[in-house]
Amino acid sequence: MNIAIIGGGAAGFFAAIAAKENYSDAKVTIFEKTQKVLSKVKVSGGGRCNVTHNCSSISQLCKAFPRGEKSLKRAFQIFDTNNTMEWFQSRGVPLVVQDDQCVFPESQDSQSIIDCLLQEANQLRVIIELGKGVKRIVPSENGIGLTFTDDTYKDQLFDKVIVTTGGSPKQEGLNWLKELGHSIEQPVPSLFTFNMPSESITKLMGIVVENALVNIQGTKLKSAGALLVTHWGMSGPAILKLSSYGARHLSEKKYNFNVQVNWVNEPNNEVVFEYLQSIVLENPKKILSTIKPYFLPERLWLFLLQKRGFSADKKWGEMGSKSIHKLVSVLTDDVYEVSGKTTFRDEFVTCGGVSLQSINLNTMESRACKNLYFAGEVLDIDAITGGFNLQAAWTTGFIAGKLL
Ligand SMILES: Cc1cc2nc3c(=O)[nH]c(=O)nc-3n(C[C@H](O)[C@H](O)[C@H](O)COP(=O)(O)OP(=O)(O)OC[C@H]3O[C@@H](n4cnc5c(N)ncnc54)[C@H](O)[C@@H]3O)c2cc1C
Repeated sequence: MNIAIIGGGAAGFFAAIAAKENYSDAKVTIFEKTQKVLSKVKVSGGGRCNVTHNCSSISQLCKAFPRGEKSLKRAFQIFDTNNTMEWFQSRGVPLVVQDDQCVFPESQDSQSIIDCLLQEANQLRVIIELGKGVKRIVPSENGIGLTFTDDTYKDQLFDKVIVTTGGSPKQEGLNWLKELGHSIEQPVPSLFTFNMPSESITKLMGIVVENALVNIQGTKLKSAGALLVTHWGMSGPAILKLSSYGARHLSEKKYNFNVQVNWVNEPNNEVVFEYLQSIVLENPKKILSTIKPYFLPERLWLFLLQKRGFSADKKWGEMGSKSIHKLVSVLTDDVYEVSGKTTFRDEFVTCGGVSLQSINLNTMESRACKNLYFAGEVLDIDAITGGFNLQAAWTTGFIAGKLL
């Protein structure tokens, strides 16, 4: 059997290794268009490679995928985060689980993951061809032909082909797959931070609020977590997650929208009102600046007071119920104008790609073209940060490599 894998990234290596493990006599070749394989794995997780996430259940794992959530359940039943950890550990890569449940190689170096994949592929005699970009896939009765940018392999036919070319930022980059009858979901970026050029909160850069709730005004899109104020706007896990949930909507809005910040992650205003009133009752003589509700960072609290027109020297005891309501509103519904986005540490994923409607997710085989398989970010699958995007590549690569 002659098997071609198009793309030497995480999904491509996992697919190639699984294929060779399942069909030891097969000739398995990874065709990589650049001169280097696994370059995204190299830079992943800031060079440390957040290889997966320590999830307690498959349903928790699925929730990390705004695109693919329901469809991936079956796939994760075949190969989940535990399988990933076992896979690497049993091949001599010790892993560590951080407090936030993100999993990294113990070496804190993505090269350990790369070395493991390369060694495994070598041992199994997977052939790696560099500088081989595939332009077209040509299915025929006798097999699948591939057209390369350098016109090599003209006369070869492959029995099975697995496409693992990663995310394409532009729709045109997917035309060669569309031509074969696959539906394409318009690719747009995901995982970015929010630019706020007209907002003075950027003066507070460096401030972190550990547990904020953010939502895109006029939508149900919301997320909670740590929020970081930057010199250009807002970042941190809560914002990155929101950018992932809202990737398509925000692209349609051309990244001009309002974000509502609930600085205390308390959706019930009554609870916040009562809490502030208890401060008034217990500390009537103290001035507003000295007691920071919910342990908010001081600079933020002073900023919010000023924003609502309160003097920091005003006494808590002088706050009537109307004033308390004003404070509740700035704590729970603080609106900022977003205009543009910025990539976070150059980490991003593509929302969109080959539609899951075009794929049989039990096997990753194309519904449009027999013996053609897909895995990784080329599919309309993407997740929030935390090791989930690589997990999708491992899972779909593993399943595609079974070549069922
Ligand atoms: C800076 C950065 C950091 C990241 N960090 C993390 C992290 O820590 N944890 C995590 O879970 N996710 C992370 N991600 C996301 C994750 O890296 C990707 O989701 C994952 O690598 C996708 O794997 P893939 O194999 O599908 O695609 P890719 O890794 O993009 O691999 C595709 C390969 O195919 C090749 N190719 C493309 N077209 C062709 C063609 N026509 N012919 C031949 N070859 C072709 C490309 O050159 C590439 O080598 C990060 C992303 C970035 C950009």
